[in-house]
Amino acid sequence: MSKALFENLISTKRLSHAYFLEGGNETFALWLASRILCGAHEDDCITCKRIYNHNHPDVIVIRPEGLDVKVDQIREIHEKAAYKSADGKGQVFIIHGADKMNIQASNAFLKFLEEPKPNVTILLLGHSKELLLETIRSRVQIEKLEDSSGFMKTAVSRGLMFNGLGIFEEIHISVDQAEELKDVADKWIHSIRDILGSSRLHALQKVQFLEKDFENREKRNICLRLVQSYVKALFAEAKGQYHLWGNVPKYQWHELLKWGKAIDELSRNMYSNGHFTLQMEHFIKRVL
Ligand SMILES: [Zn+2]
Repeated sequence: MSKALFENLISTKRLSHAYFLEGGNETFALWLASRILCGAHEDDCITCKRIYNHNHPDVIVIRPEGLDVKVDQIREIHEKAAYKSADGKGQVFIIHGADKMNIQASNAFLKFLEEPKPNVTILLLGHSKELLLETIRSRVQIEKLEDSSGFMKTAVSRGLMFNGLGIFEEIHISVDQAEELKDVADKWIHSIRDILGSSRLHALQKVQFLEKDFENREKRNICLRLVQSYVKALFAEAKGQYHLWGNVPKYQWHELLKWGKAIDELSRNMYSNGHFTLQMEHFIKRVL
């Protein structure tokens, strides 16, 4: 099952209300959510960006709590689906580890499947349809995704081996795009780490160089996503969690809140077409 086929189902209004995307990853599910909730095919669409940034109220992502998805999490879906969508275009629920739902959760979920709500689409992610309860399996469309093992396997099979590959996967770059950018990707990551990991003075001196590296709108969008990923890494660092950015400073919690607010503001301003360098300078002054 390819993207083109899903596009076709959506445009002809034949999309089912529930899919098990066997071998599918979140990037694919978010892409599908963006096609379901947004008709626009524009590069700088705000709706789609909010979806990809996990910042859209109508796209709800459920991850296993501990080993499996719990019944309370399924009840939460019931409750959320009882409300109308915030944007009026429907709701998409993405459930990770759907093949690992425990029995109670499966039964609660079954009720949800038996009484589908209009404009609610369920995207189940998991490795094997064999692990789904038969009752669930028979009520969802099962699609095996060709590109199942995802970004990394495809990237490696094409000989893409730059250091920042994982970060490029995290910010939802396609393998094609990563291939195009392979010669500059590590340099970009280095620049951002260099600027944001240093003093305010150094950062302000260097930030104007970003204007040249990220010369067009598409590249600036990647720059923003890299900065978002860096800020996420700062939070992970403070919590002692794994992240892909290597050495980053360890900040206290009250300082991190500053980073959190500043990145939200930066994201909003960039989407509303703010001046790139000025916005980056403003961001640096807020956080460093
Ligand atoms: Zn869109």
